[in-house]
This record gives sequence, C-alpha cells and structure tokens, in this order.
Amino acid sequence: MRLIFLGPPGSGKGTQAGLLAEAHGFCQISTGDMLRQAVADGTPMGLKAKACMDAGELVPDEVVIGIVRDTLSGEKCRKGFILDGFPRTTGQAQALDAILHDFSAPIDHAVAFTVDDEAVVARLSGRRTCRGCQAMYHVSFAPPAREGECDKCGGELVQRDDDREDVIRQRLRVYAESTRPLLDYYRGRGHLVEIDAAGPVDTVHAALKKAVGL
Ligand code: ADP
Ligand code: ADP
Repeated sequence: MRLIFLGPPGSGKGTQAGLLAEAHGFCQISTGDMLRQAVADGTPMGLKAKACMDAGELVPDEVVIGIVRDTLSGEKCRKGFILDGFPRTTGQAQALDAILHDFSAPIDHAVAFTVDDEAVVARLSGRRTCRGCQAMYHVSFAPPAREGECDKCGGELVQRDDDREDVIRQRLRVYAESTRPLLDYYRGRGHLVEIDAAGPVDTVHAALKKAVGL
C-alpha cells in the first residue's frame, strides 16, 4: 500500500506512520527526519536546510524532491510506503506524480489528519524525540518509562529546536498557506480520506486503519 499523510505539524502523522509501518512492513519516509539527519551530519544539504527549519519555513522544493526520489527508488519501498510530511507544496505534489508515474506505483490514499491549532501547540510543546532512533514521545500524552530516556534504544530524549511556540505558530501559518491546498489537489483526484486526529493515539489509529482499509 502506498500512502501520503497530510496534516498540520503535530497532528500525529509521524506517530501513526510509525505504527502502521511497523505492523505492515511499509517503509516510512519522513522528509523532516531525513533533513534533521543531514543537519546533524553537517552535509551541504543540511547546512542549507537548517536556517529554513529553525525559522519554521519550508526547505526549497528541489532539495526535498531529490531526497524522496532517491528513497522511493530503493528496494525497501517495494512493499509499500508512507510519505510522512511530503508533499507540502503543489510543486512537490506534481513532482511526486511524475516520480510515481515513472515507477508505475500510483498512491492508494492521501490521508488528511484534522486537529485544531491549540491541540497542536500543546502536543508540540511537549514532544520529545530520541536522538538515537528518532522514536517519538510526549511528556504528558506518551511519556517514556524513564524520564529523558528512550524505551526502545536507551537514547537521550531531546526537544527539537523548532518546537517552540513562536516557531510552531509560524509552521501552522506555512501549513495553512502552502500545504492545506493539497487537500483539494488529492480530493480532485479521488485519493483523499480525512480522519479526526484529535482523539488519543489508539482511537486515531483505528480511524486510520478503517479509512485506508487495513
Ligand atoms: P512537523 O510535521 O512537526 O512540522 P517535520 O519533521 O515534518 O515536522 O518537518 C520539520 C521541518 O522540516 C519543516 O518545518 C520544514 O522546514 C522541513 N521540511 C520537512 N518536510 C518538508 C517538505 N516536504 N518540504 C519542505 N520542507 C520540509
Ligand atoms: P507530526 O508528525 O504530525 O508532526 P507527531 O506524530 O510527531 O506529529 O506528534 C506530535 C506530538 O504529539 C508527539 O509528542 C506525540 O507523542 C504526540 N501525539 C501524537 N499523536 C497524539 C495523540 N493522538 N494524542 C496526543 N498526543 C499525540
């Protein structure tokens, strides 16, 4: 199965993509994780991306399109994939159409996660991510067994630089302006399914599985 996850930052795309990918062996493609890795490695692409990410702005289309093309061509994605955080602009959506056409691998569904802005701010302010394996936690909603330590790999849990309230609100503005129009893009192609992402993780997961027929 080939899925696209759309939704504002903090709507739970990464959490749900991780659960579905683990259960079904799909490859989870998070452009945000890949960009953060490039920043941590100090690659030229990472250096270019960092300023945009810290400011809550999008990284230029050509940078992320290149990453996604390389990843989708890999053997790991044959069984299915979840694009988590891509596409985020109409230009990216059009590029993705062309890439998937080349691979004869059309998407099955674009899933839109719906949640209001205040819930997003609460979720992102408490988000913690493992420095080692990128596993996701929340100080109140999904705490680790031991404070500050990843349940899966024992790595250190850190707060992302862009999970500060001013940057979160900027990311929400960017989402509304650049990414929300993609809901109509995929609705028009008959691919869009919308789910209420405001409930607890298990409830959202059940709604997601039902929406995509898994
Ligand atoms: P979230 O879903 O919490 O907003 P992500 O980890 O998906 O966070 O993205 C973090 C940042 O990485 C974005 O604010 C943006 O700067 C950059 N980014 C990630 N994916 C894309 C993309 N598809 N296009 C442009 N920039 C991206
Ligand atoms: P996204 O990838 O859309 O930015 P995440 O999956 O990273 O969102 O979730 C953002 C934060 O909210 C994380 O700290 C995560 O643990 C928490 N979270 C995810 N889903 C839920 C939920 N349904 N209810 C409460 N908190 C959630």
